[in-house]
Amino acid sequence: MCTKDPIVLATGNPKKVVELREIMAEIGVGIIPLTDLGMELLEPEENGSTFEENARLKAIGYARQTGRLCLADDSGLVVDSLGGAPGVISARYSIDINPSDLPRAQRDTLNNEKLLNELGEREPADRKARFICAMCLAGQDGNGEIRVLAESVGTFEGAIGKRGDVPRGQNGFGYDPLFLVAPEMIRTIAELDSDEKHRLSHRGAASRSMMEHIRTLGLNR
Ligand code: IMP
Repeated sequence: MCTKDPIVLATGNPKKVVELREIMAEIGVGIIPLTDLGMELLEPEENGSTFEENARLKAIGYARQTGRLCLADDSGLVVDSLGGAPGVISARYSIDINPSDLPRAQRDTLNNEKLLNELGEREPADRKARFICAMCLAGQDGNGEIRVLAESVGTFEGAIGKRGDVPRGQNGFGYDPLFLVAPEMIRTIAELDSDEKHRLSHRGAASRSMMEHIRTLGLNR
C-alpha cells in the first residue's frame, strides 16, 4: 500500500471532511472522502454499542472494500442526566429511519428540538453534556491482512443551554447551536470559528492523538 496515497475518510458528512482535512493538513496527511473514490461501496452497519465499536466497524468495513487506509470516526453527544442519551444514536435521536434518508439540516433541527424538549426546564447542573469522538484507522498490515492500525478518543465538555437562550450561532453542525462550551458556558460551539472549534473539540483532540499514531506508524509524508 502506498503510504503517500491520501487516507480515505469514511464519512458522508461534508462538514466532517472539511474539519478533518484542515486538522490533518498540519502533518501533511491528505484526506479523500469515500464519495470521491468513485466506487460502489456498501455502508457497514453501525450496530455497535459504543462510539469505539462503531468507528472500528466503519474503518474495517471500508478498508476491506477499498483496499486502502481508511480513517473512520464515530461521534455523538452524551448528556449525563439523560442516562447518556442521545449517545451512539445522536444522528437519529428524533427519527426512526436511516438518517441519510433525511436532509442533514432537517435532521439536525428535529434532533435539537427533541433534546431541548427532553431537558425542559432542568437546572444547569442537570444539563451537563459532552461530545465524544472515537477514531479508528484500518488498513493492511505487513501480512496483507486488514486490521485496526490505530485508535484514539477525544472529548469536549459543556452543557446544553435552555430554550430561549439557545439555539445560537451559525457555524458547525448538529447540536453545536445548543452546546455551551465549558468552563465559561457563555458561547455555543456554533459561535466559535473553525480554528477555535478544532482546538477545543472532541474531533480535534481525537485527530491530534490519531496524528501522533500516524507519525509513529510512518504513514505521513
Ligand atoms: P456520526 O459520527 O456521523 O454518526 O454523527 C453523530 C451525530 O452526532 C451527528 O449527526 C451530530 O448530530 C452529532 N455530532 C457529532 N459531532 C458533532 C459536533 O462536532 N457538533 C455537533 N454535533 C455533533
